[in-house]
Amino acid sequence: MFDYDAIIVGGGPAGLTASMYLARASYRVLLLDKESFGGQLKNVYLIENYPGFSEGISGPKLASEMVNQAGKFGVELEIKEVVGVEPYSSCTLVNCADGKGYTCGAVVIAGGARPRRLGVPGEERLQGRGIVHCALCDGGRFTDCVVAVCGGGDSGVSEALYMRNIASRVILLEAEPGLTATAILRERVRHDSKLEVRCGKKVVEILGGDNVTGIEVIEAASGQREMIKVDGVIVHVGIEPNTDYLEDVISLDDQKRIIVDDRLVTQIASITAAGDIRKGSPWQIGAAVGDGVMAALSAQRFLNGSNK
Ligand SMILES: Cc1cc2nc3c(=O)[nH]c(=O)nc-3n(C[C@H](O)[C@H](O)[C@H](O)COP(=O)(O)OP(=O)(O)OC[C@H]3O[C@@H](n4cnc5c(N)ncnc54)[C@H](O)[C@@H]3O)c2cc1C
Repeated sequence: MFDYDAIIVGGGPAGLTASMYLARASYRVLLLDKESFGGQLKNVYLIENYPGFSEGISGPKLASEMVNQAGKFGVELEIKEVVGVEPYSSCTLVNCADGKGYTCGAVVIAGGARPRRLGVPGEERLQGRGIVHCALCDGGRFTDCVVAVCGGGDSGVSEALYMRNIASRVILLEAEPGLTATAILRERVRHDSKLEVRCGKKVVEILGGDNVTGIEVIEAASGQREMIKVDGVIVHVGIEPNTDYLEDVISLDDQKRIIVDDRLVTQIASITAAGDIRKGSPWQIGAAVGDGVMAALSAQRFLNGSNK
């Protein structure tokens, strides 16, 4: 007898959905998260593109509804970091950082992703000293200050739009020649006099002693360098999947994302992957939720001994 029928690693929207589906189907489910439940949702001020909320919904509110729903159907939720997954012919062992291990029939890996670093001098040293990755969590410290937001994709532009109500000046930097965010966000930025958009400019160093005091940028076209005084830097230049402990367990692609088939099953039949962590994910909440459903159905199929 296993400790659980299914263990879900990661309590973001993908993991919360998978766990809710499996528990509602009467499986014994353990959901593990290393930090807190909700994943990246906790960092999103307003979600406008998740169906069913015409006025949008705050990320923390949506996360708390998902957690309540999972709990209602009997999912056991525990804060623990998973550090190893060992598949055997009859069961899978999930090992946690506190030394505990749990056996189960099926595993859903839904560990999401973490923000990618810029990889420039000053970045490591000034982490948390003016460099942050979440405007909703940490933006308040830049009230009436000058802030640079690095990254012109959806999350970077959303963060810049959030910060424009807090900071005295927001500079949005994108290394590519244009913003890559969806049209509606690009349009909002274009009409916002408080936001200064600088495309084709790459941050090459973050400056400061105890705290951030500025950034050095280089213009791609001319190679010209410029020092800009800022009090804070918010970095949103992509994400990296949380797959460090899986490298010898399942196949990952060259960007360390989990390779799955069209039912989100990895090369090990008892292990599925869902959400931002898998190859091909569009990094969206709706997609993570859809993945959670698909991964749960595949896990059920495996637990029932059916490959149909
Ligand atoms: C600022 C910002 C704004 C965004 N805005 C939008 C938006 O408006 N619309 C939209 O659709 N998407 C948006 N997104 C993207 C969206 O939040 C993600 O696509 C979505 O949260 C991915 O869900 P997930 O469940 O795959 O992973 P995550 O939300 O990343 O959750 C993964 C969870 O797994 C946990 N975990 C990781 N490794 C381990 C481990 N070893 N052991 C235990 N737990 C582990 C993490 O702590 C985390 O809680 C935004 C993202 C950000 C950062």
